Amino acid sequence: KLYNQVQDLKGSIRVYCRVRPAFGTVKKPSCVDCIDETNMAVITPGKGGKDTRKTFTYNRVFGPTATQSLVYVDTQPLIRSVLDGYNVCIFAYGQTGSGKTFTMTGPDVFTTETMGVNYRSLNDLFDIQQQRKNMIAYEVRVQMLEIYNEMVRDLLSSDGANKKYPFYKIRLGTQDGINVPDAALIPVSKTDDVIRLMNLGHKNRAVGSTAMNQRSSRSHSCLTVHVSGKDLTTGSMVRGCMHLVDLAGSERADKTEATGDRLKEATFINKSLSALGDVIASLAQKSTHVPYRNSKLTLLLQDALGGQAKTLMFIHVSPDPDTVGETISTLKFAERVS
Ligand code: ADP
Ligand code: MG
Repeated sequence: KLYNQVQDLKGSIRVYCRVRPAFGTVKKPSCVDCIDETNMAVITPGKGGKDTRKTFTYNRVFGPTATQSLVYVDTQPLIRSVLDGYNVCIFAYGQTGSGKTFTMTGPDVFTTETMGVNYRSLNDLFDIQQQRKNMIAYEVRVQMLEIYNEMVRDLLSSDGANKKYPFYKIRLGTQDGINVPDAALIPVSKTDDVIRLMNLGHKNRAVGSTAMNQRSSRSHSCLTVHVSGKDLTTGSMVRGCMHLVDLAGSERADKTEATGDRLKEATFINKSLSALGDVIASLAQKSTHVPYRNSKLTLLLQDALGGQAKTLMFIHVSPDPDTVGETISTLKFAERVS
């Protein structure tokens, strides 16, 4: 049933909400209630012990017991479309600790059961490439970029020991669709190649410590898979790309008592996440002006947002009642873009 939705995915934006399981020894009542496959409610304590509930509706709601493979099922049709020449963007949005990296990559040590969307997508991409090998000669190349304080950095061009990262320019409308032409672009032919590169990229990714999470990511990371294929009979070319974006934490700065560098980071993150929200909201409303230029993130992804491109946004929330304010602002962001 889900596979048949590939047609609906053309030129569309889909928003999925995932609620991570509660952990810790003290079990508090969850601040979210996953009602069914598309509805959820957020619960805030009201006066006199009376809770208030507000309901939100998304394309899918995944509760705390949803497996990685269930969460991935609807993504699968997008992979085929990349090989057919469409551009795709998959985002993970949410406050730090809500499960973005878990969805995209998996837990720190992952197995075939727990691996995330990134690896599953690439496995499928290589499988379909194999199935078509007598008809189309594909070339698959990857880039891994980071946007930190509105600067684009290449996560694959230096090793972790070398703290110097070059900054790169975004160029739109290049002939081969590579819009950061100076960054490393590495040919890959199997998922292991990509895992190796991603490990290098993760090592290079800027991390800072905040009160909320020791290794909270204060930057957006973007794994881009560029695909080009030549039809062996007709000689015609097809080109598509897929951006897999693990966004910086969406929490507001005051929450983590940011000052100095942390405050500057938070300001840039805020600006780029709201620019992303503005772009997707104006695409959803079929507005004639789409403000891609307001952030590096939206500029980088311009070719893969809108038009025939397909967008999937995984919104992440924590069940922890102590951060219900962040949960509500995440759900509101999602409501605005869906
Ligand atoms: P984020 O990237 O949003 O900061 P993480 O993905 O690092 O959050 O998740 C925080 C912690 O919760 C990690 O230890 C992660 O493995 C765990 N976690 C997140 N989502 C799930 C889930 N759906 N099931 C099990 N563990 C999860
Ligand atoms: Mg993370």
